[in-house]
Parts: sequence; structure tokens; C-alpha cells
Amino acid sequence: MSQSPETPPPSSPPVGEVIAIGDELTTGQRLDTNTQWLAQRLTEAGVDVRYHTTVADDLEANIRVFRTAAERADLVVSTGGLGPTADDLTRDAMAAAAGVGLIDVPELARCIEERFTSRGREMPPQNLRQAQLPEGAAAIPNPGGTAPGVDQTVGRCRLFALPGVPAEMREMWTATVAPAIESLPGERRVVRHGLVKCFGIGESHAESLVPELIARGREPLVGITASLATITFRVSASGPDVAAAFAAMEPTLAEIREKLADYIFAEQPGGEPEIGLERVVVDLLAERGERLATGEGMTRGLLASWLAEADRENQAIASSRCANDPTPPDEQALRLLGDAGADYGLAVAGSEREGKVTIALAVPDDSGHGRVVSKEITLIGHPSIHAPLVAKHALNLLRRSLLGIE
Ligand code: AMP
Ligand code: MG
Repeated sequence: MSQSPETPPPSSPPVGEVIAIGDELTTGQRLDTNTQWLAQRLTEAGVDVRYHTTVADDLEANIRVFRTAAERADLVVSTGGLGPTADDLTRDAMAAAAGVGLIDVPELARCIEERFTSRGREMPPQNLRQAQLPEGAAAIPNPGGTAPGVDQTVGRCRLFALPGVPAEMREMWTATVAPAIESLPGERRVVRHGLVKCFGIGESHAESLVPELIARGREPLVGITASLATITFRVSASGPDVAAAFAAMEPTLAEIREKLADYIFAEQPGGEPEIGLERVVVDLLAERGERLATGEGMTRGLLASWLAEADRENQAIASSRCANDPTPPDEQALRLLGDAGADYGLAVAGSEREGKVTIALAVPDDSGHGRVVSKEITLIGHPSIHAPLVAKHALNLLRRSLLGIE
């Protein structure tokens, strides 16, 4: 179908690149959390982030990285290398990549000096490096530190250089980069990620229930990730604004909801922070005003620690025991049910050596003694994941029982 003459051709979103700079990152001494944060913000703002680059504090390498980025991206945000020391090379690299010189900006020098004198300190002369900018570039104010950022245009690419200190970087992003993105040419679609978290089903089985959803190039795009037997559907939807992105996500969430049904323990249309089974179980117990007693040997206190973390208000946990108990699991669970204030008793018994673990859940019944449901787990996979897997199975058994799922 041909377009009517008055309709402008659809323009694609700006291509983005994030550059993280520092030896501490390339040597693996420090985790590059800034790139994750920047990529999340850029994606939310409708930028198509196609590249992440991490580079050491080396001038040649930095020049090459900035040159490449300016050629392949419309918008580049870098983090790090803006300090006053000899290993802070971002300004030099940006100037060299653009083929311009570095110039001293007296106004910036005054600002930096003022920061020092207002604290009764003398400015070390090397801090004047931070008063330099590539020719034609503008400074980005840094209210929280001495290093101003750099806003530079190279060809059709807009580059923003922000400091590495996460708090400063975030503040400067909000004040200057975020508004600048809005004015960039190209279609702007905001993206939101929704999560549906499942337990008790394998990754391939989960996929086979919704095969048409996983197709590449689908809109909204759906991905499945597995982490210690938790299966997460990640739905990425876009729209001209946030409400439209959520609206576009809903039919896909509904389809997953219908097909995965009882396997789903949490639905998070807004994404982060991801919640776990322990959070869901604690909320269910708190809603009912009921409490749980746990006893675990093989899981080495994981249940106790996860539940304590989730139960900040001390509403849902009656007691937590951590010991290897030779008593049969059903008896253990019933004994836990007898603990002061307990409405449910959850016992995990068995050992790594036996290769099998029994989870027993005692729930109150009309007889007054309690009734036990149990589940046997065969330990498979790497030994390092056995304890968290078993702890999740235990929480899921309780979740299903609380919800009356057979
Ligand atoms: P810089 O601006 O390179 O002097 O970095 C200042 C400090 O910010 C470093 O010492 C790191 O502690 C931290 N930092 C730098 N880059 C990152 C990054 N990509 N992710 C997290 N922290 C960072
Ligand atoms: Mg550095």
C-alpha cells in the first residue's frame, strides 16, 4: 500500500551507544553498573541501544572507541574518565576523535576553584584539567562534584560524557541528558518491560505452551529466561507514551496468564525490582493473619534467611529452625505445626548424599492434629544449586497449598 503524500515517512528511533571507561572495569575489579543503569534509561526513553563498549584508561583505545561510536550511533553516553588525574582521558579522547583541540574555559575554572575555596581548601593545579573542553563542546553542570560533563556534537552524533561516580552521573543525566534526548530527531517510542514469573515448569515446556509468543520480531517482544528453576517471561512493549506501552503489553500478559495459569507466582507489569517466591508466600500469610514455622537441614538456613528478609514486619514467620533432624519429614512438619503461633509447618529433610530430599507441609485440619502434604525432590544439576532449588520447591508447595491449587 502506498502512503498518502501528506504522511511523513516513518522514521526509526535514534541508535544509542553506552561507553564505560576505566581500568577498574576492564580488569574486572569493579562491576560496571553504570552501563546497566544508562541502558535502562535510554531504552525507556525510546532510544534503540545497540552497543555497549567498555574501554581501559588508554588514550589510543579511547579515541578509537569514540570515533567508532560517533560513526555508528546517533546518541552516545559515556561514563568515567572525567577526573583530574593523568588516567582521566575522556576529554582528550573526545577532542582527538572529533579532530579538534582542547580549550581552557575560564568560567569552568572559576566554578571549580570556587568549589574548593567554599570548603576552605586550595584547588590543586591539576584540577584545571577539568576546566578544559573539546572545541565547540558545552559543559554539563555537575552539582555534586568538581568534574563537569561534556556535551559534544560530532557529525550527526550527539555525545554526552558523564562522570563515573554513580550518584553524580544519575543527577546529571536527569538534569541535562534526559531532556536533550526528547529533542533528538527520529521516532520516539517509550519501552516498558513486564515480567511474569513462574515456578514448577521447565523452560522448554513453558515455551511450548505459548510457541507463537516467542517469535523474534514480534511486537511486543517476549523472551524467556531461567534462573535457578524460576522461569521469567519478559515482555517488552513500546508505544508513543508510557500508558500506550502498558496497553500494548496487556494482551500478551493475558495470554501468558491464561496458558501458564497456576505456574505463575508473580506478575510485574512494571518490571523491576523482581520479586521471589518468599515475598509471595509472606504476603499470602500476612493477608490471612497466619504464620509459618520452618525446619530445614539440607537447605542450610536458606528458607529462614529468605523468609526473614521478606517478612520485615514480623507478621508471617512463627519460627525458623535450622538443624539436621533424623525424624521422618511428616513427623517434623507436624511437630513444627505445634510451635507457638504456627498455622503451617514446613520441613525439609534429606541430604545431598542420598540424592533425594523430602519436603513436608503440615496444615491444620478438622481432626486437630493436622494433615501433611509432601513432595519428594530428586537432586539434579550442579550441587551448588541444590539448596536454593529445594528451598524454592518448599516455598512453592506452601504457595500452592495456600491458594488451594492441587
Ligand atoms: P572516574 O569518573 O572514572 O574517575 O570514576 C570515579 C569512580 O566512579 C570510580 O572510582 C568508580 O568507583 C566509579 N565508577 C566509574 N565507572 C563506573 C561504572 N561504569 N560503574 C560503576 N561505578 C563506576
Ligand atoms: Mg576512572
